[in-house]
Amino acid sequence: MSEESSAAALPAFLLPDHLDFLAELAAVLGSVSSDSKVGVALVSLDCVARIDGMMGYRAGDSLCAQVAGMLSQSLKPEDRIFRVGRNEMVCLLSSLPSEAHAVLAAHKILHTLDTSLCIDGAYFYATPFVGIAIGSKENGDADAILRQANVAMHEAKRRMDRFAIYEAILDAPRLMQFQLQTDLRNAIAENALDVYFQPKLDLRSGLISGVETLARWEHSSKGAISPVRFIPVAESSGFISDLTMRVLNSALCHFDAMQAVSAHLHLAVNLSPKDLQERHLPEVIQQMLGIWNVPANSLTLELTETAVMEDDAMYGKSLERLKETGIRISIDDFGTGYSSMSRLRDLPIDELKLDMSFVKNMRTSFSDEKIVRSMIALAHDLELLVVAEGVEDQATLQHLKELGCDLVQGYHVSKPLDSEGIVDFLAGWKGLPG
Ligand code: C2E
Ligand code: MG
Ligand code: MG
Repeated sequence: MSEESSAAALPAFLLPDHLDFLAELAAVLGSVSSDSKVGVALVSLDCVARIDGMMGYRAGDSLCAQVAGMLSQSLKPEDRIFRVGRNEMVCLLSSLPSEAHAVLAAHKILHTLDTSLCIDGAYFYATPFVGIAIGSKENGDADAILRQANVAMHEAKRRMDRFAIYEAILDAPRLMQFQLQTDLRNAIAENALDVYFQPKLDLRSGLISGVETLARWEHSSKGAISPVRFIPVAESSGFISDLTMRVLNSALCHFDAMQAVSAHLHLAVNLSPKDLQERHLPEVIQQMLGIWNVPANSLTLELTETAVMEDDAMYGKSLERLKETGIRISIDDFGTGYSSMSRLRDLPIDELKLDMSFVKNMRTSFSDEKIVRSMIALAHDLELLVVAEGVEDQATLQHLKELGCDLVQGYHVSKPLDSEGIVDFLAGWKGLPG
């Protein structure tokens, strides 16, 4: 069969058309009795995208046709099925006695599709997620109901449940997240993010040998927002590399004043794993270093363990290219991910930062102390520098020193400081009291 004739043979419902669906839903809502409900079950078939990519769009269409056929057989004859997106179908459950019947329908949909489907001799599971919204005479805006089913479907995915029912409460976090994205994008574009610096103390010399740059965001109405919250927003919205470059640029801009009072200082900047996907990252960073006249070996890039350990050839290559420029690489939050020893040996890294969760409890927890002790030994065996994060008291600092840890960072030495505060701190550094 030629491509053209086989495409023409596809049933009409395979052509995505949410407008048809909305018109039908509006008509059903217009005629529904006041004691009945209308259910909208949005079925997301994420496997369609994979099948499109592996076997072509006709195969994806074929899977949707099978799914539609199976659903129309298992649901009531008056229920209708539409394809509202490339990988989304909607079941219009036109006359339900109650909301509970929509839940039963969701179970039926999931049960029906809980079987392997054959496409061109290959077998697949559809693994659908279902979002349900309920319409009635009072709640009769078709577009709003489809949106609610979409919100519920995303909630099901987020929870890794197979289905979810729309509740108004689900809207609030989504709207907030959306607003946060917009505000963050504006803050980055307007250069309104700030940078703070936290000193790293060299336990052998007693000198401050470096500072870590930490991004800060003072939201105009919400106040300070933690990077733990806004960095993932930037990562998931595709503007993390803009943020990283702004942070790096601000850090380099303030670095001269810090070096003027503290020679041989190192500057550390956090990098997101997403930054490593930027092909020209090493060249861009080199250019920035050139503009601010900072030698490459004065800069350390901190990457979380999970990012560095991901067995992705591109990440390894990107790290190697960064390393070739002379920049130092540090593994942040070490101990929280799943490091493979061979990868640790092969990666071009200079430093391990022990995660603060172990450091904080090492004085009270024998097992945490043993983990810290082993991680220091491991790092030294691999000829890496060890930094302990989250050191909050002198006793922990002393213990780390006895274990041979090279550097410490934490509130006991100093909290992160703004650009003026760090210069004053460095200028006045005379070692810890006692
Ligand atoms: P991180 O890189 O591991 O940074 C250390 C975090 O621990 C900082 O939190 C710091 O303020 C905090 N901290 C330092 N000493 C202590 C201590 O003694 N006790 C306690 N309880 N906390 C301490 P912050 O600034 O909230 O940053 C959190 C994380 O956000 C950072 O963890 C880093 O992963 C990320 N981050 C911050 N700025 C950036 C950035 O510019 N780019 C990227 N990609 N990530 C960033
Ligand atoms: Mg860090
Ligand atoms: Mg850390």
